Amino acid sequence: MSNILDGKALAKSIKDEMAATVANLMVNGEKTPHLAAVLVGEDPASQVYVRNKVKSCEQVGFKSTLIRRAADISQEELLEIVQQLNKDTDIDGFIVQLPLPKHIDEEKITLAIDPKKDVDGFHPSNFGRMAQGLAAYLPATPNGILEMLKRYEVPTEGKEVVVLGRSNIVGMPIGILLAQKNYPGNASVTICHSRTKDLKKHTLRADIIVAAIGIPAFLTADMVKEGVVVIDVGINRVEDATAKRGYRLCGDVDFEGVAAKAGLITPVPGGVGPMTVVSLLMNTLKASKGLV
Ligand code: NAD
Repeated sequence: MSNILDGKALAKSIKDEMAATVANLMVNGEKTPHLAAVLVGEDPASQVYVRNKVKSCEQVGFKSTLIRRAADISQEELLEIVQQLNKDTDIDGFIVQLPLPKHIDEEKITLAIDPKKDVDGFHPSNFGRMAQGLAAYLPATPNGILEMLKRYEVPTEGKEVVVLGRSNIVGMPIGILLAQKNYPGNASVTICHSRTKDLKKHTLRADIIVAAIGIPAFLTADMVKEGVVVIDVGINRVEDATAKRGYRLCGDVDFEGVAAKAGLITPVPGGVGPMTVVSLLMNTLKASKGLV
């Protein structure tokens, strides 16, 4: 039996379910969910991410609006766009793709987004609600990981989870969520980061490892125990002269080596990435139903 957690296939089947839900909404004369995305500048990775998000909206029958602006947009102009989107009653949820150009204060922009439309779950009010287990938009990547664990029926209760990375968008929230009294959850979570001493001591005793640090092939076979479940969040571009684009995508896990020992493992690409996009769609559907 394969030990691959196939995010690509899973995302496709969830999108099929969602398309059926949207078709039903239309039959019943209900509102079509509508997601807007704001993309500033020409960052190549951001362009790919936003293109995927918009394409996925179309696949499930959502409305989508893409607002593109040049990298030299002023902070005031961007805030004005956010205010317009907050007010637009047809738009259920929207995202401002990060990172933003250096002259723009990302925190100010995030704080300006109406928490009820914050389908990325980055607003502190959503983060706080999430941490207290209240109805909230969960940040897309952790939400996608939970959905994957749930659909693959991966046991988490009483497990030792080690999270590598403590960012506000992945490491910290997935740590909080997996410790909560819930399924997936009820785990004993350790969050490791750049100041952790003897990281290997932690990873070697982990039943589940979530790697979100942004260092290619960082987690190697000698750092994990037999049967471990590995969720690789990293998306790193590694130079590769044999690849058409001159680079290939690599996770934070040395896939070949770790897969030989793992009970279950996500590949990169085709693991957490597609689940992140699906989870944004799930949040938009929630928003259109006013569930948060
Ligand atoms: P980040 O860059 O904000 O932070 C990295 C974290 O890793 C920090 O908390 C730091 O303490 C920790 N770290 C750095 N070096 C370490 C070391 N040697 N040992 C232990 N911890 C260390 O992280 P991020 O924004 O969460 O992104 C992490 C990775 O996940 C990146 O590759 C990013 O591209 C990817 N990512 C993927 C998705 C997806 O949808 N698959 C979504 C978001 C981020």
